[in-house]
Amino acid sequence: MRTAESTPKNANRSQFITIDAVHRQPLVCKFAEVILILLLFGPPGCGKGTQAVFLAERFHIPAISTGEMFRAECQAGTELGKLASSIMAKGGLVGDDIVDAMVASRISRPDCTAGFLLDGYPRTVPQAVAFSAVLQQKGLPNPTVIHLDVPDDLLVARLTARRQCPRCKRIYNLLSQPPKVADQCDDDGAALMAREDDREAVIRQRLRAYHELTGPILAWYGASAVHSVDGGMAPGKVAQAIALEVEAAGK
Ligand SMILES: [Zn+2]
Repeated sequence: MRTAESTPKNANRSQFITIDAVHRQPLVCKFAEVILILLLFGPPGCGKGTQAVFLAERFHIPAISTGEMFRAECQAGTELGKLASSIMAKGGLVGDDIVDAMVASRISRPDCTAGFLLDGYPRTVPQAVAFSAVLQQKGLPNPTVIHLDVPDDLLVARLTARRQCPRCKRIYNLLSQPPKVADQCDDDGAALMAREDDREAVIRQRLRAYHELTGPILAWYGASAVHSVDGGMAPGKVAQAIALEVEAAGK
C-alpha cells in the first residue's frame, strides 16, 4: 500500500512523498503534469467555506468562490466587471455567459497553473456544460467533484441553534459554541437573538432551493464522478475524508 502526503506548504504541489512499504524509506515522486481541479458542492450550513480553505492549503491551490471573484472583477473595473455591475445596478441577474467568462478568465491566472478549487460554480447544468468546454479548450483534466452530504434535519438543527449578539454581532451556536451564561453574550452581556435567516422555514426553503439546483448538476457529472463525503462529522474528520477522496481520485 502506498500513502501519499502533500509536501510542506511552500513546496511544489507536484512533488509527493511516498513511503516505500518494503524499505520504509521515503521516495520522492514527481508528478509534474498533475493538475488538480476541485469542485466543491454542499448545502448551506455544511461548513463548505471552512473545507475550501483547508483543501486550498492542503493541495496548494487557490480556493475561488464566485462571490469573491465577482467582487474582485467589479473592483478591478474589467470589462466583465463593468458589464456585471451595470446589469446588477439595473436590478438584473447576471447571466450564465458572464459568469462562465469570469470563471474562464480567473482560472487562466498564474496562481491556477497547478489547479484550483471552485466553490459555488457551476451553479446550473448549462454552467457545468460551459465549464467542461473551457477545460477541454485549455487541455485541462476533468474536475474532481466533491459533494458534502449532510441530512437536512442536521443542518436545520445546527442552523436554528445559531444566536447572535445584537450589540457586538458575535455568533454563537447553542449546540457547538454556547455562551457561558445562557442567552447572554460573553463579551457584553447583551441578550442573544436568533437571526431571521436562521428560522426553520427560511432554512428549509434555502435547502429546497439548493437541492433543486445541485441535484441535476451532480446527476450531470454522474454518480461515478461524484465523491460524496459525510459532511455531518466534525470539521477535522470531514477534511480528512475529503483529502482521502481527492488523493484516491488522483491515482
Ligand atoms: Zn456581544
